[in-house]
Amino acid sequence: MSADRPLIGVLALQGDVREHTAALTAGGARVLPVRRESELSEVDGLVLPGGESTTMSRLLETFGLLAPLRARIADGMPAYGSCAGMILLAEKVLDGRPDQHQLGGLDLIVRRNAFGRQVDSFEADLDFAGVDGGPVHAVFIRAPWVESSSPAVRVLATVPETTAAGAAAGRIVAVRQGAVLATAFHPELTGDLRVHRLFVDIVRGHESGSRRTTEER
Ligand code: GLN
Repeated sequence: MSADRPLIGVLALQGDVREHTAALTAGGARVLPVRRESELSEVDGLVLPGGESTTMSRLLETFGLLAPLRARIADGMPAYGSCAGMILLAEKVLDGRPDQHQLGGLDLIVRRNAFGRQVDSFEADLDFAGVDGGPVHAVFIRAPWVESSSPAVRVLATVPETTAAGAAAGRIVAVRQGAVLATAFHPELTGDLRVHRLFVDIVRGHESGSRRTTEER
């Protein structure tokens, strides 16, 4: 395992796996598609891509990944969820399916398809805490937003308060809690690598953190 080029998994059950793989590779990571428990156990961090959270939830169960993934997240594995991935990482979901599973990791309530059923996509430029170099252009596709969150969750970005944003104005759309990062939008679709770089840095920090702990022992 190399701290410089950590091995990051992309949950490859459904969704935009290829785009995340490309963004992570360009952002300095080695990437492993994850479909089995043995692959999950190898990675230093995991990306949960956009797609359809209800389908991904069902596939997690079918592939026997639900319990192992919950355990790794509870154990502090860095994770980054975009859109459907954010929904999966939330403690609780509103407007989900009653049988949809939550992985935990983010102490918040997320509202699925929050931008309105009639609004398939919405774009905005966001100030993103911890990301330098100006606003991040965010593409929201049938996206969730954070309905409420605990003080343990750090808000990284909200939708700007413009008229065009309508009911989405001021809503929380990017968060971090410990080593878990989530965005309601899809940075993997815009060619802007800064959010993926942030996640690669979180994974690197986690690695050096655990090494220090070992040395201290
Ligand atoms: N609406 C989808 C869901 O509920 C998320 C959409 C996306 O990931 N682009 O999972």
